[in-house]
Amino acid sequence: KRAFYIGRFQPFHKGHYSVIKTIGKDIDELVIGVGSAQRSHETPNPFTAGERIMMIRHSLADTDIKHYAVPIDDIQQNAVWVSYVTARTPPFDIVYSNNPLILELFEEAGIETKQPPMYHRDKYSGTQIREKMIAGEKWEQLVPESVTEVIEEIDGVRRLKHVSGSDQ
Ligand code: ATP
Ligand code: MG
Repeated sequence: KRAFYIGRFQPFHKGHYSVIKTIGKDIDELVIGVGSAQRSHETPNPFTAGERIMMIRHSLADTDIKHYAVPIDDIQQNAVWVSYVTARTPPFDIVYSNNPLILELFEEAGIETKQPPMYHRDKYSGTQIREKMIAGEKWEQLVPESVTEVIEEIDGVRRLKHVSGSDQ
C-alpha cells in the first residue's frame, strides 16, 4: 500500500515527523508532497523545495519508511488539483491529511482518505517555529536534529530574519 501526505514543511518539524512515523506503520511506501514548492525566501515560506526535501530525507533516515518527496507547485485551480498531483507523483492508494480542502478534493475524486492524529499541535507548528527564529528564540527542540543541521548549513535563520525585515 502506498500513501500520500502533503505539507509545505516550512520547516519540517517534529509534528510532521511523528505523523509520518505513525502512518508508516500502516503502509509500505509514502509519497510526500512538498507543497507551494515554487515559493521560498519569504516569511511564510523561507526554504526552497530542495532544502525542504533535504530536511525530509535526512530526518527520515533513522526510520525504515520508504518515501518519495515530490515538489508540488501551487496551481490556483482546486477543481483540477487532484489530477495535477497524481500526474506528478508515484501512484498511491490512500491520502493522509487533516486539511479539509485536501480531504474534500481527494474524496470527490474517489480516493480513500484518513485523518492522522495531531501531535502536540500547540507546540509543533511551522508558523510558531518561524516566529521563534525571527524573534531569536530557541526553536531547535521543535524540529528533528537533522533539520537543525540543514538550516545551519543553509544559514536559514539569517535568511528568514533578513527577508522578514522591512525596508523602512
Ligand atoms: P504552517 O504553520 O506554516 O502552516 P504547519 O505546522 O501547519 O505549518 P504544514 O506544512 O502546513 O505545517 O503542515 C503539513 C501538514 O501537517 C498539515 O496537514 C498539518 O495539519 C499537519 N501538521 C502540522 N503540525 C502538525 C502536528 N503538530 N501534528 C500533526 N500534524 C501536523
Ligand atoms: Mg499549515
